[in-house]
Amino acid sequence: MTASSTPPAREGLLAGLAADASPGELLAPWTSLRVGGPAELLVRPRSADALVRLLARAKAGGIPVHVLGGGANTLVGDLGIPGLTLKLPGDLFPEEVQPAGAGDGGLVTLGAGAAIARLINVMRTRGWVGAEFLAGIPGTIGGAVAMNAGTKQGECKRVLDAVELATPDGIGWVARSALTIRYRHTELPAGAVLTRARFRLSGGDIEASRAAMDADLGYRKRTQPLSQPNCGSVFQNPPGDHAGRLIESVGLKGTVLGGAQISPLHANWIVNLGQARAADVVGLIERARERVREATGIVLVPEVKRVGVFG
Ligand SMILES: Cc1cc2nc3c(=O)[nH]c(=O)nc-3n(C[C@H](O)[C@H](O)[C@H](O)COP(=O)(O)OP(=O)(O)OC[C@H]3O[C@@H](n4cnc5c(N)ncnc54)[C@H](O)[C@@H]3O)c2cc1C
Repeated sequence: MTASSTPPAREGLLAGLAADASPGELLAPWTSLRVGGPAELLVRPRSADALVRLLARAKAGGIPVHVLGGGANTLVGDLGIPGLTLKLPGDLFPEEVQPAGAGDGGLVTLGAGAAIARLINVMRTRGWVGAEFLAGIPGTIGGAVAMNAGTKQGECKRVLDAVELATPDGIGWVARSALTIRYRHTELPAGAVLTRARFRLSGGDIEASRAAMDADLGYRKRTQPLSQPNCGSVFQNPPGDHAGRLIESVGLKGTVLGGAQISPLHANWIVNLGQARAADVVGLIERARERVREATGIVLVPEVKRVGVFG
């Protein structure tokens, strides 16, 4: 990065740090929905030490920090994200596998920037079981932990053993038992960045494990608009009901706004028809929330994270 391309307020932020920076980088390509404006400064730290020092400098300078994982659950505003957007490289940390003993499974430690699929690959390769419900969920390990990603079959917290967190004060491991984790949310200390996660997998019925993943992937292909850019489920399912069923019941399935559409295949999914703006997606989210609230009294809670400035 050159000094001339650095926003004046951010000068010195990266001096002497092992990090790659890209001012003004468009974030749409880094999200699965493919919408959103630029990051004021997108930074990929090249070491844990650089990350901690960056967090400390950002805190001292009052610069906001957002962590972007795989962007599979993120809606970036059309005017982009002010401050620092962090993206942890997938290979920032080596993958570690510690077998517990013959047939007993073991521990798998992955960097937060690694793909969720890495955990599934290690599980399959080792002949272990336990994380089937994460197969087919796009994004990173950090995003899976932060969102407590999962399905009706299970949630990330079931296999999570510990996380490593970076803050402006340093970096360290926190046991799963010390974390508050609920439906699609893990409580993290303010400003903490997940850097690694350790998972506990077990020995078990490999054939049943593979069959469960194949069945789940088949179900996804039949019921989800996977060929169009999307962010998965837009709303959390309210207790005892399904957001998709509620949105369909108020007649909004297939509704188009600008370049975005409530999917005709699954009403809890919004797809980008090609040129969607974040404002189109927000418009559909608000319309669905309003119509469902009017008709049923149920207030749908968005699962997708809105980040940045929407104009
Ligand atoms: C086709 C499709 C299918 C999906 N199916 C499912 C499903 O079945 N179940 C499900 O739960 N989700 C599903 N999702 C949503 C998404 O895949 C998950 O929420 C996933 O865990 C998001 O990971 P990510 O890395 O992309 O997170 P991002 O979207 O990048 O971030 C999500 C949140 O996590 C935070 N975060 C990310 N990394 C870190 C970090 N290192 N430290 C601190 N915070 C961090 C971000 O700041 C943000 O608040 C689906 C999405 C798509 C596109």
